[in-house]
Amino acid sequence: MTTTAPRITPFRNEPIRDFSDPADRRSLEEALDRARASLGQRYPLVIGGEKIQGGAGTIPSINPARPSEVVGQVDEASAAQVSQALDAATAAFERWKRTSAEERAEFLFRAAERIRQTKDDWNATLILEVGKPWIEADADTAEAIDFLEFYAREALRYANPPPLTPIEGEKNWLTYLPLGVGVVIPPWNFAFAIMAGMSSAAVVSGNTAILKPSSDAAVIAARFVDLMHELGLPPGVLNLVPGDGPTVGEALVTDPRTRFISFTGSKGVGLRINELAAKTPPGQKWVKRVVAEMGGKDAIVVADDADLDAAVAGVVASAYGFAGQKCSACSRAIVDAKLYDAFLEKLVPAVQALRVGDPSGPVDVGPVVNAKAAEKILGYVEVGKAEGRLLTGGRRLLGEGYFIEPTVVADVDPEARIAQEEIFGPYLAVIKARDYDHALEIANGTEFGLTGAVYSKSEERLAQAADEFFVGNLYLNRKCTGALVGGQPFGGFNMSGTDSKAGGYDYLLLFLQAKSISRKIAAQAADDLAAGMG
Ligand code: NAD
Repeated sequence: MTTTAPRITPFRNEPIRDFSDPADRRSLEEALDRARASLGQRYPLVIGGEKIQGGAGTIPSINPARPSEVVGQVDEASAAQVSQALDAATAAFERWKRTSAEERAEFLFRAAERIRQTKDDWNATLILEVGKPWIEADADTAEAIDFLEFYAREALRYANPPPLTPIEGEKNWLTYLPLGVGVVIPPWNFAFAIMAGMSSAAVVSGNTAILKPSSDAAVIAARFVDLMHELGLPPGVLNLVPGDGPTVGEALVTDPRTRFISFTGSKGVGLRINELAAKTPPGQKWVKRVVAEMGGKDAIVVADDADLDAAVAGVVASAYGFAGQKCSACSRAIVDAKLYDAFLEKLVPAVQALRVGDPSGPVDVGPVVNAKAAEKILGYVEVGKAEGRLLTGGRRLLGEGYFIEPTVVADVDPEARIAQEEIFGPYLAVIKARDYDHALEIANGTEFGLTGAVYSKSEERLAQAADEFFVGNLYLNRKCTGALVGGQPFGGFNMSGTDSKAGGYDYLLLFLQAKSISRKIAAQAADDLAAGMG
């Protein structure tokens, strides 16, 4: 492959459109028509660059707004095919690890460019497959582009590590090596960005990877793997092996050929993977590395001196954007007692004004991802009725789609289940705090530590939050969702995961190991070096 470098401009975030421009709207509508024309298409496995029929049948990926609409039939891998993929990735690693960083990065730059040119086709898949409203879909696609652009630049940076401290009589240098075969297990919610970000970070660092997508978002993953092969990515570097988590996922995680696992998803699954990966089956020569980014119970603190309108707008956007199905979503509003009633008075009509419906059209809140998710959220509505005061929402809308009314439960005890457990739906618990210190104490009072926000006009209080609010991503006087690659590296503390800081300058280190080399140099050469001549 020929490279088109030098072209490396400073990284910039891809703009996100709001579709107020009629040309943008038309472009997306046309893309939705094209996507509808290819509904039900079959998506095979990709192993060693070959498209292969799945040995374990197919998984239908459905439109959560219209569950009778099958977006695609994704082939499911058998145990033998899992093993075949591990062989293909192991074989491909020998060549790929020796491919220059420039060449590897070039695949990501080109992928970013192709996605930029065909943005609305990716947006349409996201709208149909996971029910994203238009702006959310555009943000997901823009973030996928950002990850590709950012990690490509990062791979080039890690290819040239900074010089080490000089030691007399020796020359010392450090080089970063890839780890080997990685298993990439993304969630369905940032179906494009997280899936493409995790996969591209693994391969641009010189590893080969097996991508096991979520069954709720396997079509977009298959399209991404296709694109990488259209761009000439060598066979076996990125393999697509869809299937059930407990069977296909665990077979990949436990196999001795697997060197690392890059996981994003729920706490329960992340902990299980961490535990399984810690075992060393016979023949395994390494300690597997696990990167596990997990759930949240994110809070927005509203202090008594907050700008109330801004706080309400921030809570509504953070709690109900993409139907609350973001790891960063606000699921607890912790409000100072002095402002509590006024806050609820403004919050409830703002929540009731949200338009819920099929995201092929203009809506604020789409469906939740599947029947199981809808059932789980409705179960928490019953819990919430016992644990607090249901102010609005709580019902499933009539019709076949998985639509849940945006829900607010007030007067919730900080230790209540709905204040402690991740619900992952359009569901907000409102908690009354005695004062600001108490609010921060409540905010820190869960096992999670992913995102959080504080609304206050006091510099002192904002500084206190910066110091005491124990989350990986803290926001001051703004919503707690919408982290941008490069500017807001993302990842959480405690049970929210291993704090990988995706989209940050430390991220690729998780896919690399450093080799330190020291060479003894002859006395004359050492003297020359000391005299600044070597
Ligand atoms: P999930 O844990 O159900 O599934 C995630 C992935 O793990 C899927 O690909 C699934 O097939 C696979 N899987 C399931 N069981 C497995 C097993 N036993 N072994 C191996 N793989 C298995 O999560 P989800 O519903 O897809 O995503 C939502 C969750 O992800 C929420 O908890 C959310 O907070 C979290 N999330 C976290 C971040 C973050 O950066 N911290 C980002 C996005 C989503």
